[in-house]
Amino acid sequence: MATINIAVIGAGMAGLKAASTLHGIGINVTVFEKSRGTGGRLATRRTEFGNFNHGAQYVTARDPAFRAFLRHAVSQNSARDWRPNLYHGQQAQRQQTPRPIADGNTAADIWYQGAPQMNKLVTPLLTSFEIRTRHHINSIEPRGPREFVLHNNLGQEFGPFDGVIATAPALQAAELLQPLSPRFDVINNVKIAPCWSAMIAFANPLPTVFDAMVHPDPAISWAARSDNNNNLPHRPSPDLWVLHATTEWSRDNLEDDNERVASRLLEKFRDICGSRLPEIISIDAHRWRYARTETPLGQSHLTGMKGRIIAAGDWCLGARVEAAWRSGKCAAHAMIETLTS
Ligand SMILES: Cc1cc2nc3c(=O)[nH]c(=O)nc-3n(C[C@H](O)[C@H](O)[C@H](O)COP(=O)(O)OP(=O)(O)OC[C@H]3O[C@@H](n4cnc5c(N)ncnc54)[C@H](O)[C@@H]3O)c2cc1C
Repeated sequence: MATINIAVIGAGMAGLKAASTLHGIGINVTVFEKSRGTGGRLATRRTEFGNFNHGAQYVTARDPAFRAFLRHAVSQNSARDWRPNLYHGQQAQRQQTPRPIADGNTAADIWYQGAPQMNKLVTPLLTSFEIRTRHHINSIEPRGPREFVLHNNLGQEFGPFDGVIATAPALQAAELLQPLSPRFDVINNVKIAPCWSAMIAFANPLPTVFDAMVHPDPAISWAARSDNNNNLPHRPSPDLWVLHATTEWSRDNLEDDNERVASRLLEKFRDICGSRLPEIISIDAHRWRYARTETPLGQSHLTGMKGRIIAAGDWCLGARVEAAWRSGKCAAHAMIETLTS
């Protein structure tokens, strides 16, 4: 039988789950990723002071198959349970007794993180298929009913492929796929919220009793210590914190510059902590234009071009890493069905 070649666009959780599922049954897969590495919004910023997990903070599992994936990742040291002391902001301000998140939570609420940092959570999916990083795909050209060629932003072309699974965030997927088929027009119904994320390295540990905080502040929705276990030559290790702005604040300040956003979020954090903060040795911000799904598609994937072009990603099902994994898996099964029918 002739080799089947499938292209996957995006090396986040959805794309890599799709790629590893197809590769697992002997299909030749090539993944194209526009950034320098894998993981997508399971993101880690490496700095001289340590690693900041500035995208997804923790992962939970409701689907038993996804839970099994996370446990497998733990057994391979690509993930770990994360049990921070979690505070609701108002409690923290009143200096109430710590309430670890394990208290009263069900098994479904075990929090996992990638290990040693968030972007490593996808490691168990990285088998021997090819991943072309720094390849920004900007069009898919059909050269026949079963033949597709990809073009990148440098004018290069790749293929031909027997099918394509695109896992870019909704708006970017729409730009790629809507020229191919009106079946992809429904992507316009999906809504994704932005999020500004600030990354701050303090010279000394913050005088707080919590490691993570959900705060009902109009500006900050989440603050957490990024584990700095990377043996860097700083003594003592800097204390690294990630702050996430609320959707509303992120929208209102979307076009502001990194520096101003970082310092404004720091000021809010100072107010929340209610105490003098240690010396700041590094501060930066990252704008996620497409962070969290607000209105999902409501189905696991979308197909067009007789099932040979498939759209997938968290935005199909929800706002969580688990939604991305499930969507990637369903997209791969749909592609297998097309190829075998
Ligand atoms: C700030 C923030 C906090 C979050 N917190 C949590 C949380 O605590 N828990 C949780 O479960 N989820 C959280 N999420 C959501 C979670 O990160 C996502 O649901 C999940 O990672 C999405 O996976 P994905 O594969 O669908 O998309 P992505 O991870 O976005 O992967 C898509 C990939 O496609 C690439 N790409 C896009 N366009 C192209 C192109 N044209 N050519 C080539 N490559 C392309 C992108 O670079 C990216 O790597 C958070 C997200 C953000 C941003």
